[in-house]
Amino acid sequence: MMPAIFLGHGNPMNALARNGYTEAWRRIGRELPRPRAILAVSAHWFVPGTAVTAMARPRTIHDFGGFPRELHEVQYPAPGDPGLARRIRDEVLAALPVGLDTSWGLDHGTWSVLHHLYPDADVPVIQLSIDETQPPAYHFEIGRQLARLRDEGILVMGSGNLVHNLHAYAWGQHPREPYDWAVRFERQAQELLRAHEFQPLIHYESLGPDAILAAPTPDHYLPLLYVLGAWREGDPITFPVAGMDGGSISMLSVQIG
Ligand code: ZN
Repeated sequence: MMPAIFLGHGNPMNALARNGYTEAWRRIGRELPRPRAILAVSAHWFVPGTAVTAMARPRTIHDFGGFPRELHEVQYPAPGDPGLARRIRDEVLAALPVGLDTSWGLDHGTWSVLHHLYPDADVPVIQLSIDETQPPAYHFEIGRQLARLRDEGILVMGSGNLVHNLHAYAWGQHPREPYDWAVRFERQAQELLRAHEFQPLIHYESLGPDAILAAPTPDHYLPLLYVLGAWREGDPITFPVAGMDGGSISMLSVQIG
């Protein structure tokens, strides 16, 4: 069965960088069984409604500002998979209202990491939007429905950050020591994950002030819940990438299976 993985993507410039994170992503790409396709849930497609990209040639979206031109010039020309998109709407998520999207594409939450996992862009990729109007349990439940895709060699990938507080983020050259609350929340989440205790992670807003600082908005946290939903009894949970960027961005990756 194909693993499922949550990747902490962090700074968009990681797409062009060679560092400990990007080396680890390349290793993950080499070590995972080769997927037939990738279903990506990115923090950066956070909209009212659930939709799946259904174009044969998804465009590379440069959904950021204030970064160098070379980052705007990155292309990730992976094909889409319109048949898989329709099947997700009609079968896998048939109980939910799911739209077929032909206007989005691959945003940087997806391509900044896939650029390293699969540098040849030769695995079909579709994206699933995060419905911003729904509570966390809804996203976990979608993950449960998506688990069956693992049997078909499809990689369910969440891309966000377990801790993501841009207000506290130290932009600039010098690394900053991680904030205490960021370290504490990351540690607490890892303990819960190791114990397969997902309920407190679904209801993370009740975990106290550290959680509120770690996820002041839900967009970068929720992709994790899709991956946890795809967990099945007996799957090991491992953390193939770790680190805290700029004091307040957790680069932790969570692998299921
Ligand atoms: Zn992001």
